[in-house]
Amino acid sequence: MPEAYLALLRALSEPHVLVTRAGLVAAMNPAAKRMLGADADIGSGRPFGDLVQDTPTQTHRLLAAFARSSSPLPGAVTLRTGERIRVYGCVLSAAPGEPAELMLLRLQPQQSAASRFIALNRTIEDLTREARVRLQAEETVRASERRARFLAESTRVLLSSLDHQTTLRNVARLAVPDFADWCAVDMLEPDGSLQRVAVQHSDPDKVRLAYEIAERYPADPSSPHGAHEVIRTGRVESAAAIPDEVITPAARDDEHLRILRELALHSYIVAPLVGREATLGAITLVYAESCRSYGDEDVVMAEDLARRAGMAIENARLVAAVEEARDRIARQATELEVQTEELQAQSATLEDQAGQMEEQAAELEQQLEIVQLLNEELGQSNSAMATARAEAESARAQAETARAEAERASEAKSTFLAVMSHELRTPINAIMGYTDLLDAHVAGPLNEKQHAHLERVRSSSVHLVGLIDQVLSLARIEAGHYDIHNEPADLVQVARDAAAMIEPLVNRQGLRLQTDIVGGPVSVVTDVGKLTQILLNLMNNAVKFTKVGAIDLSLAREDGRAVFTVSDTGIGIPDEHLEAIFEPFVQVHQQMNRRAGGAGLGLSVSRQLARLLGGDLTVDSEAGRGSTFTLTVPTTAAVTAPGEGAGRRD
Ligand code: ADP
Repeated sequence: MPEAYLALLRALSEPHVLVTRAGLVAAMNPAAKRMLGADADIGSGRPFGDLVQDTPTQTHRLLAAFARSSSPLPGAVTLRTGERIRVYGCVLSAAPGEPAELMLLRLQPQQSAASRFIALNRTIEDLTREARVRLQAEETVRASERRARFLAESTRVLLSSLDHQTTLRNVARLAVPDFADWCAVDMLEPDGSLQRVAVQHSDPDKVRLAYEIAERYPADPSSPHGAHEVIRTGRVESAAAIPDEVITPAARDDEHLRILRELALHSYIVAPLVGREATLGAITLVYAESCRSYGDEDVVMAEDLARRAGMAIENARLVAAVEEARDRIARQATELEVQTEELQAQSATLEDQAGQMEEQAAELEQQLEIVQLLNEELGQSNSAMATARAEAESARAQAETARAEAERASEAKSTFLAVMSHELRTPINAIMGYTDLLDAHVAGPLNEKQHAHLERVRSSSVHLVGLIDQVLSLARIEAGHYDIHNEPADLVQVARDAAAMIEPLVNRQGLRLQTDIVGGPVSVVTDVGKLTQILLNLMNNAVKFTKVGAIDLSLAREDGRAVFTVSDTGIGIPDEHLEAIFEPFVQVHQQMNRRAGGAGLGLSVSRQLARLLGGDLTVDSEAGRGSTFTLTVPTTAAVTAPGEGAGRRD
């Protein structure tokens, strides 16, 4: 039974009954209960005919007449007490959800003309009131319908999109103008501030003004009224009217007060957007210029709307979170696939590498075996080498011993030669001394023949002394006991002296002596005696091995050294003997040597002396075409004091 009809029954003082088209009692007021004698068991849903004495046909006909009339139609019924009373009836418009229209029956006892007049008047008043109530009821029903439609439409909009800000704006748009002149939605930010996501008003200028106010005069979070408080408490806040006494203290300054007054706020509801765990924001509905007021049912509707919006927001967030999670999982799955492929590729590479490593390992094993074999061989050759080394060591020791022995022998030989030479010279000197005495006629005059014999004795003695000197020189050189007496000298002079000394011999042999000596002095520090000995030896040999022709002596200066050459036009020396002639006791021309004398020591001693002086002695010769001996002497040696043994070797 709609509340509006019950309110209507309560408002009527005369007996009234609500009856359905089917003739069933829907409700009645207390006055009707009293008149019909109805007790507690008489409730709705009972046929109206049961409460009167008329026949069912009479009752049916009466109710059918009422059902066709929308304005009160008179009739009569007989009560169960036997009293005949008047009854007026008409149809009421159907409430939403009701299957059929209801009929309102007014019962009226038979009365006098005066009382009927009064009753008629009362009836007119009642009917006037009834009409008003009915209008109100109808308006209430329409309002209820509108709310239901709005809620249904809002729910559809809220569920239509996952973008909750857009849907909230759409809900705000739906609310205006039927349920609000203003509608605003504020969402709670993580930092506790409010973000205004929607403002709706039929005038766009006023929408701009609302945003401007929100920016210039942001809601005070600590205020006991408004969105902050509603979000804090989770309870709806509403006012049927907003008197100026409320507005004035709420204004921050005169300008704010002016704007608030200009808005002409009349009534408001602020409802929390409630989520499962927390309040998400608030929706504000305001009546202003339309001067309407919010009632209890509006508050209930606003609460319902805010709850649905809260759930929609949460659902949207959950869906977004699920979408994001799904995307993330899809991305991770893709990454995993890529990683799996990479891993497979790596695993294939690793398998390849493992195969290669196995092959390398096999090769290494083979090489190891070879190395082991080589090691064994090396061990064997090592021991062979050790043996060989030991043998070499013992050979070296033997050689060392032999060398030491040879050195000792050489020393002994040199000593022997030195002693022998000395011992030989003493008697020869005596021979030569006595020869000179005889030649000086100390023992009486000598005849020609004696003189010739004496000359031969002297000549043999001189030759013998020369041989002994050469042996002694060689022995000293080999023993390393040869004295060098350096002194400043002019080699030009040395050459001239040597030439002068040999010239008689050259002439005696019918040969010529030619000299080619560099101009100016060639100053050196050297052992002049040794140098002269070498030059005389070379020129002696030249005379000895030359039958016809000339002997040449030259001296030149060349690159920091002095170069003597002694050339002849004699028999020459075959190639194969060119080096051997510098060995001791080597003679190439045996026959000539026998005739001319000599022991094969001259060149050997000369070369060793030349080297002791810092120079050298070489030969260039061709058999039958003569020989050229070249003696070099360094000229760069420092000049030292005369007599000082600069190159002395002891
Ligand atoms: P020897 O006292 O026997 O001459 P040398 O050592 O002076 O000893 O000379 C060695 C040999 O070199 C000589 O026996 C001779 O055969 C050869 N020889 C030296 N000088 C000449 C030369 N000018 N012409 C040819 N042969 C030479």
